[in-house]
Amino acid sequence: MKRFCIYTGIILIITIFVPALIVKSFNFVPKEANREDRDNRQEVEEAVPEFEGNIKVYDTRTRQVIEMPLEEYIKGVVAAEMPAEFHIEALKAQAVASRTYAVNRFLKYPKGHPEHPEAPLCTGIHCQAYLTLDELKSIHSSGWEEKYWGKIEEAVESTKGQVLYYKGEIIEALYHSTSGGMTEDAVDVFAVDIPYLKSVESQYEEDAPRYRSIVTMTGDEFIDKINKKYPFADVTKENIQDRIKLVERTESGRVKKVAINGTVVDGREIRELFELNSTNFKIYFNPRTNIIDIETIGYGHGVGMSQWGANGMAKNGKTYEEILKHYYTGVELGLWNDL
Ligand SMILES: [Zn+2]
Repeated sequence: MKRFCIYTGIILIITIFVPALIVKSFNFVPKEANREDRDNRQEVEEAVPEFEGNIKVYDTRTRQVIEMPLEEYIKGVVAAEMPAEFHIEALKAQAVASRTYAVNRFLKYPKGHPEHPEAPLCTGIHCQAYLTLDELKSIHSSGWEEKYWGKIEEAVESTKGQVLYYKGEIIEALYHSTSGGMTEDAVDVFAVDIPYLKSVESQYEEDAPRYRSIVTMTGDEFIDKINKKYPFADVTKENIQDRIKLVERTESGRVKKVAINGTVVDGREIRELFELNSTNFKIYFNPRTNIIDIETIGYGHGVGMSQWGANGMAKNGKTYEEILKHYYTGVELGLWNDL
């Protein structure tokens, strides 16, 4: 028994990550380019009609553009992105974050995003998820509309027009499901330093369904995937501990760099390769059973507002403004001027 425990103990603690699906696509550019971009944008903005209350959204399923009032769109986003069971203050925080994200996209790409030139936003996770009320009714159990739609409407209508600013500019309001206790600095995920997207503590997340998860596979499956992805790896069961090593974790504990047979790769690549919930992972190999367990903490890229953390803060008496200011460092809440 004792021996078994020792074997089941650990052995390998690697470094792996995978962001992908939940990661909202980013448009940060280096500072120099940024200035040019801003100049260009002014020209573009002058050339396009002002925002008139409706937002265009590219429906990734029907491949058609839907046009609707901004606030109606935000309702469909809040309901698609956050469980309606969440506390009203968390839903309000989500409404403001989603509105800020949408307005930011509109200002950057008034005519259309390069990935979908038909509209500045899309209904997929590439931007932020959006579902119509009919779609929401079809995915939830009967009675959902009666029970929750009014709450969604209240969250959006009571924060109407409100967005987040940092030094007078509308922010890139990224958010994610579960941080695992500490959010991530944007610089460690997107390699761009954003003053309002810094690592902050995120309490009250233990109830999140994906707070902790484990992916299990055989040692052979693991080794096969690594060797296919990295032909130079030359990993075997015998040398696995020497060939795969953790190089660096970010300040929040996520895996930043892993060395595979001496070559350093991004933790995010490992997350993608094994479809992990986040880059905050540890890899355990038991040579006796030939089983690899990858334990992951949190879900998503970890940057910006944690939705489960927001709900925890709300349940502990914080307002939506306090929640937003906690997760987005140094921001101010204000009305979007163009509305
Ligand atoms: Zn999109």
